[in-house]
Amino acid sequence: MRYMPENIRGSFPIRYRIIRRSIKHPRLELWGSELRIIIPKNANPLKVIRENRSWIIRQIEFVREARRIAEKLELVPRTRRKFKALVEKIAQEYAKMLGIKLGKVRIRKMKTCWGSCSSSGNITINRDAQYLPENLIRYLVYHELCHLIRWSHDREFHKLIAERFPDYRDLDLQLQAYWIKLSEKASENRGGVIGSAN
Ligand SMILES: [Zn+2]
Repeated sequence: MRYMPENIRGSFPIRYRIIRRSIKHPRLELWGSELRIIIPKNANPLKVIRENRSWIIRQIEFVREARRIAEKLELVPRTRRKFKALVEKIAQEYAKMLGIKLGKVRIRKMKTCWGSCSSSGNITINRDAQYLPENLIRYLVYHELCHLIRWSHDREFHKLIAERFPDYRDLDLQLQAYWIKLSEKASENRGGVIGSAN
């Protein structure tokens, strides 16, 4: 906290963490609703924050808006079995459409993201997505499959995303809102237990 210059500190309503690593260039990442400022061992965090101020402010606005939406969200009741079958069906449908070879489709507990994929064509979807409306599950699966065509989140990747989900920015916002909602639910469930695993 002591590194925050006055003008930024005033508008920092989200959790953030400064992480020092042996890397060459600083990196800013949004993990759930925590902002991680990853900097080289000898870098000055203040300088990194100053140089990326507008990006940081945008992320803060994004999380703030997601929090507002989260208050009104309802979780979708769906069994784990139905969820698995749905993800499998959607993955096959999109893989065919995109002309890619689909590997294994896995459902796992993931702490920091909604999904991931490997170069061998396997995709993993966070099991918490069980509570999402179908359009968001479709979006998540499509996102991971698009990575099998385009690895990084660059302009080409977003063009591919927009072909099917032109409103993807709004979907990202909704996903962030569900993320907040579900992490609140998880901490309610843990309430009162001291020293439990997890
Ligand atoms: Zn991605």
